Amino acid sequence: MLILSGKDLSAIVKAETAGKCRLFENRFSRKPCLAVVLVGTDPASQTYVRSKKKACEELGIAHLDIEFASDITQTQLLECVADLNANPLVDGILVQMPLPRHIDELAVTEAIDPAKDVDGFHPQNIGKLLLGQRSLVACTPKGVLRILDHYGIQTDGKDVCIIGRSNIVGKPMAALLMQRDRNATVTVCHSRTKDLASYVRRADIVIAAVGCVNAITADMVKDGAVVIDVGINRIPDPTKKTGFALKGDVDYENVSKKASAITPVPGGVGPMTIGMLMENTFLAACYREGADPSEFGGAV
Ligand code: NAD
Repeated sequence: MLILSGKDLSAIVKAETAGKCRLFENRFSRKPCLAVVLVGTDPASQTYVRSKKKACEELGIAHLDIEFASDITQTQLLECVADLNANPLVDGILVQMPLPRHIDELAVTEAIDPAKDVDGFHPQNIGKLLLGQRSLVACTPKGVLRILDHYGIQTDGKDVCIIGRSNIVGKPMAALLMQRDRNATVTVCHSRTKDLASYVRRADIVIAAVGCVNAITADMVKDGAVVIDVGINRIPDPTKKTGFALKGDVDYENVSKKASAITPVPGGVGPMTIGMLMENTFLAACYREGADPSEFGGAV
């Protein structure tokens, strides 16, 4: 059984991206730049934002930090996004979700210039992804594909079962895997799926993005399947300094006995998401400068 370490792979991706960013800076006399917008004081969002800024610093990507109190109006936030769209030094814009209830997340996502949409959530980028055109691709599904590629797991002709149909994971994941360069047969399951186990059981590759501990158990998985656990669930744990432990959607202990390969949580898909965000920022910077990213070495 192979443990698919997103932690190790993300270190490789980050080192490669750092090298490309150095070459970018030599050529354009500036670093790629990511604007990170945080609204409110949600602890999980604060942690994610901190990790993203830290990764920028490690890789030689400039970051512009913008923080607002949770009572900011939608108009003020949209004005901020418009300013970042117009700022020639900003290559990528990330507005950390979730936003307070009084702000329409879709309106904010749609306000971001698609060329700076490093999260890959803008309808224009999602549409291009579906059509198989070049776009900025959502970081988590892109990270999952990178894990499969790195560990030599083929998707051609394979049955893939994705559990979860969110706009940020399940749907873009399905769109990527059904493209001609991937050739998977994709099934997307969700909360209204009848007899979930019957779909999971026939899959060569299972991708769980549910947000529920033990949603995928060993009896649901066929022998030798590849299992990708996207879920990140915080479980209270007084023995931890943070007061919680991170668990995936998959019953790792038992499923790992049947799977041929599996991602752990933590250390699986999570670290890849940040790695892909850094790569997307580099890509956005290249496209904005009219440069071909492949000129900076490596495959992207
Ligand atoms: P979401 O809540 O938007 O979507 C969850 C999906 O699961 C829904 O489509 C729902 O229909 C489906 N679902 C819920 N209960 C189900 C059930 N019993 N059976 C089948 N399907 C069911 O969540 P999301 O944003 O896609 O995130 C999913 C999980 O992935 C969460 O744990 C989240 O924290 C994690 N996540 C991780 C990363 C990462 O970097 N690793 C990134 C994004 C999300």
